[in-house]
Amino acid sequence: MAYPKFIADGMLGKIAKKLRIFGFDTEYLANTDDNTIIKINFDKKRIILTKDRQLYTRSLSLNIPCFLITLENESENLITIMKEYNIEFIFHITNKYTRCTLCNGALETVTKSSPTVLNNVPQKVLEYVDNFYKCVICQRIYWNGTHVNEINKLVDRINKNIGKK
Ligand SMILES: [Zn+2]
Repeated sequence: MAYPKFIADGMLGKIAKKLRIFGFDTEYLANTDDNTIIKINFDKKRIILTKDRQLYTRSLSLNIPCFLITLENESENLITIMKEYNIEFIFHITNKYTRCTLCNGALETVTKSSPTVLNNVPQKVLEYVDNFYKCVICQRIYWNGTHVNEINKLVDRINKNIGKK
């Protein structure tokens, strides 16, 4: 099954970031009004995520896929999104399937000895990390550090609450 693609509205920056880390293709539209969001998604290729009940109602009346975020707790919201779209399992985060948190670009592996890694990664990180990834669009470098362990705790929690296990 193909992963759904999302559009997150301006209020959902943190959720958009998490979805990208999980590997979901997620447009984040900060400072974009409802008309524009609907126009952008008129081909219905993405699911609009919003806390705005008006945008939700309008999207549904136009048959545009939309999911209303109603909870305050971030991980609870992510769990309801996964359940709604029948995602049964999120892979442990290794950056392999992750998308860039800044621009939603795909990541590709990049060798440790390449100038882009050597020039952009702190020396301390180079001492203990071997695998690096680069955003194909904005060139930002990613690696598995302590933030990945934190994210994986969240992934474990979500996985426990979705799927058929
Ligand atoms: Zn990027």
